[in-house]
Amino acid sequence: MTTKTKKIDMKSLTLEELTVEMDRLGEKAFRAKQLYSWMHEKLALGFEEMTNLSRQFRETLQEKYVYVTLEPVEVQTSHIDGTQKYLFRLPDGLVIESVLMRYRHGNSVCISSQAGCRMGCRFCASTIGGLERSLRASEMLEQIYRIQKLSGERVSHVVVMGTGEPLDNYENLLRFLGLLTGEGGLHISQRNVTVSTCGIVPNILRLAQEGLQITLALSLHAATQEKRRELMPIANKYQLSEVLSACEEYQKKTGRRMTFEYSLVGGVNDSLEDVRQLAAIVKPLHGHVNLIPVNPVRERTFSQPEKKVVNDFKNNLENYGINVTIRREMGRDIDGACGQLRKSYMEGRSQC
Ligand code: SAH
Repeated sequence: MTTKTKKIDMKSLTLEELTVEMDRLGEKAFRAKQLYSWMHEKLALGFEEMTNLSRQFRETLQEKYVYVTLEPVEVQTSHIDGTQKYLFRLPDGLVIESVLMRYRHGNSVCISSQAGCRMGCRFCASTIGGLERSLRASEMLEQIYRIQKLSGERVSHVVVMGTGEPLDNYENLLRFLGLLTGEGGLHISQRNVTVSTCGIVPNILRLAQEGLQITLALSLHAATQEKRRELMPIANKYQLSEVLSACEEYQKKTGRRMTFEYSLVGGVNDSLEDVRQLAAIVKPLHGHVNLIPVNPVRERTFSQPEKKVVNDFKNNLENYGINVTIRREMGRDIDGACGQLRKSYMEGRSQC
C-alpha cells in the first residue's frame, strides 16, 4: 500500500498558519506576508507569477503545497442586465457555478459552498444529484477571485446562495469568511456578505457566537411547520419554532437583522392566509422578507404565481408593516433555476 501524504492547501491558510509553515521551511515571516499578498490581494494564478520569490523557492513551494485555482469552463452573459454565470472546474474535475450580478450599489458575486447539496428542497435544482462534496475555503474564495480577474471589475458584495448548504460546511465557511473579510486580502466588509441557510439550528446558534457582522438569511418558504415540511425535508429535523428561536438568538447576539427568503410557489404558499401567517412570525423578529417567484425546474412541477398574485402578496405583507422586496430576476435569459447550468453540463457529459 502506498501512503501519500496530503499536500497542504496553501490558499486556505490564515496568515498566522502560513507564517508557521514558512518557519518550518526555515523562511522568514515576511515570506508569509509576500505569499499571502500574492494569493489574496494580487490574485495570482500560480507560484510562477510570484516574481519577487526566487525560482528555487517557488519550486519548493510547488513541491510541498497545493495551489488551488479554478478553471473557467463556460461563461454565459445576460443580454438584459449583464449578469454573468460562470461554470468552473474544481481541481478534482467536479464543476460548480457562480454568478456575477451588477447592481447600482456595486458588483455582487453569488458563490457555491458545496458541489451538489443533500438538503433535498423540493423546488431546488441543486439538490437533485445529491451532495458530491463540500468546498474548501480556497475553492469558495477562488470563485470570487476568478470572477474579479476575468471581468476586470471589483467585487464589493458576496452572497453565499449558490449550490450547497453553507451551514453544512461550517468549518470551511468560517475560514472562508475570515480570509475574505480580513485585512491583507480583498478585505470585503462583513456587512456586504450574506450567508443563506435552510435552517440548521445548532449551526445558526454557533454562528451567532462568532462575533461576525455578516447578514444571515433564512430560507423560510412556508409559515407553518406542516407546509414547510412539505417543501423542505430539513424541517423534519428542526421544527419551525426551533428555527425561529435560533433566529431570535442570532439577532440578539449579533445585533444584525435577518432576512427571510420566501420562494412563492403558485397555489402552494401564496394565499391570503399564508400572508397572515408569514406576517405573524416575521413581525416580532423585525425581519426583512425577500420574495422570490419560484424558478421553474424541469424535473419539478412547481410554477410561479401570476404576476398580480406576487404583487398582491407583497402589498398585503407591507400592510402588516413588514419590510418586503421582490427579488429582481437577474439574468432571466441565461438562467433557469440556480444550479441548472451545472446540471445541464453534467448531463451533457454523462451522455458522451
Ligand atoms: N442552502 C441555502 C442556500 C442556497 S439556495 C439555503 O437553503 O438557503 C438560495 C435560495 O434560493 C434559497 O432560499 C433557496 O431555497 C432558493 N431556491 C432554490 N431553488 C429555487 C427555485 N427553483 N426558485 C426559487 N428559489 C429557489
